[in-house]
Amino acid sequence: MSHDGPPDTGRILIKGAYVMSQDPGIGNIVGDVLIADGRISAVGAGLHDDQARVIDGARKAVLPGFIDTHRHNWQGALRNLGPAWTYQEYRSTVQIGLGPYFTPEDVHIGNLAADMLSVDSGVTTVRDESHISNSPQHTDAAIEAHWESGIRAVFDHGWPSTDAEEWQFGSSRTHPEDIRRVRGEVLADDSARVTLNAMLRGPELSTLAVARQDIRLARELGLRISMHVGLGEWGTRQRAVRRLADSGLLGSDMTFIHCCTSTDDELKMIAAHGATASVASALEVFMPGLGQPATNRLLAAGIRPSLSVDTETIVSGDMFGVMRAALAYQQLIIAGAAGPMDREPGLPTFDAADLIGFATIEGARACGIDDRTGSLTPGKEADLIMVCLDHTNLLPATDVAASVVAGGHAGNVDLVLVGGRVLKEDGVLTAGEAVFEEAAASRDRLFHAAGLPLPA
Ligand SMILES: [Zn+2]
Repeated sequence: MSHDGPPDTGRILIKGAYVMSQDPGIGNIVGDVLIADGRISAVGAGLHDDQARVIDGARKAVLPGFIDTHRHNWQGALRNLGPAWTYQEYRSTVQIGLGPYFTPEDVHIGNLAADMLSVDSGVTTVRDESHISNSPQHTDAAIEAHWESGIRAVFDHGWPSTDAEEWQFGSSRTHPEDIRRVRGEVLADDSARVTLNAMLRGPELSTLAVARQDIRLARELGLRISMHVGLGEWGTRQRAVRRLADSGLLGSDMTFIHCCTSTDDELKMIAAHGATASVASALEVFMPGLGQPATNRLLAAGIRPSLSVDTETIVSGDMFGVMRAALAYQQLIIAGAAGPMDREPGLPTFDAADLIGFATIEGARACGIDDRTGSLTPGKEADLIMVCLDHTNLLPATDVAASVVAGGHAGNVDLVLVGGRVLKEDGVLTAGEAVFEEAAASRDRLFHAAGLPLPA
């Protein structure tokens, strides 16, 4: 059941932009992008269309929208609370402390706030890792927010945040059965703007028997799977990827999130099975206890990773910071100041252009939607952004990819389209500003209900 009306039939022609297509057949060009019926219609020089609204792309970069392959959107009203939190502090405050007190309305507001900030910073697809399935109403509220915001969302149905401790780290509870209702009645259409995946705990967070049953359920329902693995010391002991491979469960329908303490052998198993990975580089460098970003080790294993924000309670919700953090950690590896997993000599490196690819086309691949989005390929849905290169913080833009990665921020994002629909233009969101007032009220209510003091 799609909540979207018929596709936007407005035609838009962006003229004279620096186009970073992420399509190897097109490459980077100075040229035009024509959007018609919600799709990329043509990319090239000297395009004309009498019916199209023309947007001047001079001194602007046009690229596919960023794809965030792992964010816990429900925490959108709790953003920036604990930039110096450890993993344990995050868990005790957010998942265990506040999670049980979320009402469906709080989930709706949190998701909407996360979506609006995402769009503002040029994210056109978010994979919402929703471990707030406290009731069917919570789940429905989370999904409803994605329909309202206009973003493309891959909704990953997860477990509840009630009894959070019982659902993780050796859990013997199987995945909530409500996922069958969601698949059958709420998100049955895999071609819609909002689609369904399964956020499973796998053998790192549940018993192997539960993991096997959950994976069977997801596959029975035709759902792709995401799984957090390689979480600090715990991940080192669990060897989740190896156990999946040994059990015959590892498959190309899986995206592995973090992989910080997954071994090099396990990363090779992910590659050999055609599975994908999501590096939450900013979160991983900010939060002690998880381990360090596996970006370079994934490259060594033959995997081009996707990137993700994870939780806005600790790190900024934009992909510029995520790209910069991945690069910052790589430079520590080069300097010989890396964590214990990255001391093998000769790890492959990446540059700014690679990071733009990780944050776009590789994100689409990790979500299994690269036939629809992730590059400016004619026929794909028109999910694209335009970044002002003539803003003071980017001038003079010498190497465009390097400028966007090193200096870019949400304020430089001038235009955002999802499926051809304009969600931000001339640097201004077209809807949704009111949600940020509601987010503050939701935050206050949650802290009060949980009996936690709000920071002064
Ligand atoms: Zn996460």
